[in-house]
Amino acid sequence: MYDVIIIGAGPGGMTSALYASRSGLSVLVIERGAPGGQLMNTDEVENYPGFNLISGPDLALKMYENSTNFGAEHVYGNVVSIEDHGAIKKVVCDDETYEGKTVIIASGSEHRKINIPGEEKYAGRGVSYCAVCDGAFFRDRHLVVIGGGDSAIEEGMYLTQFASKVTIVHRRDELRAQKILQDRAFKNEKIEFMWNKVPIEINGNDMSVQSIKLEDTKTGEVEDLLADGVFIYIGLDPLTNFVKDLGITNAHGWIETDNHMATNIPGIYAIGDVRETVLRQIATAVGDGSIAGQEVYNYLSSLDD
Ligand code: NAP
Repeated sequence: MYDVIIIGAGPGGMTSALYASRSGLSVLVIERGAPGGQLMNTDEVENYPGFNLISGPDLALKMYENSTNFGAEHVYGNVVSIEDHGAIKKVVCDDETYEGKTVIIASGSEHRKINIPGEEKYAGRGVSYCAVCDGAFFRDRHLVVIGGGDSAIEEGMYLTQFASKVTIVHRRDELRAQKILQDRAFKNEKIEFMWNKVPIEINGNDMSVQSIKLEDTKTGEVEDLLADGVFIYIGLDPLTNFVKDLGITNAHGWIETDNHMATNIPGIYAIGDVRETVLRQIATAVGDGSIAGQEVYNYLSSLDD
């Protein structure tokens, strides 16, 4: 039985592991991929204090090493459910069940699907949600990026190192992304913008994407844009399927917590991107993680009183 089981080894989960283990608690971190979460799909980080510029995987490795300094264990596992038995929480994975006195959910989010014809068919064959993973396959090709937020702009700029041209297609005529990212993108000669357009279909041959059908949101006009690849960045969906029966999520699937990162179930906490929050950043996940790491210590101490 662990004092705390942390689900997810992104920046938030690894920070909780550091804080809880440094308080003397036994800690298990369960992760189904490489430690780092979204950091592993991030080329450069320039808004995490202490580092002017650091690659996502380098920061992930530093956080991983740091998280194990005080004895936290990391295991591979795909969590399918959490059972709340009061003083004991069971974390059920595909092939193993772990028991903990408390649980911190740090499972993060995934890039939202756009749900148009061709998206699923061409996933991995021209349709992608990860520029860092797939960008290099598109040397000297024309790429289309869908979205107007930080991810679309940042990843669109990243893709210009490979692509001959990157067309960013946005459904409005104003970007949602941070001003500093907008300014850089507007100056980038390889980037073009198409405003007031939504994608309605992705087409291609048996092998790969060849074009995308766009509809003008003002006139309703439809046009075919030739494209060798389509990168979709239209927001995030929480990874909360495994807690759907616990009643801790809101209507959109994000987990609701109080300022202590506590959910409405005693002993179950949530942090980082998976939480209903106003900002999803590495720094905010780390802040959440430190609060929850300390709070599980306070909670377990209060049970001993
Ligand atoms: P986001 O901020 O939610 O932006 C999603 C974009 O996609 C918006 O521009 C939205 O348009 C558009 N969109 C949504 N649904 C659409 C649809 N069905 N069809 C076409 N377009 C659609 O998502 P994100 O860019 O993935 O960012 C997620 C979070 O991570 C944000 O909090 C962001 O600040 C953070 N992030 C931060 C950094 C950084 O700090 N460097 C980098 C990446 C991400 P509208 O604008 O019209 O709503």
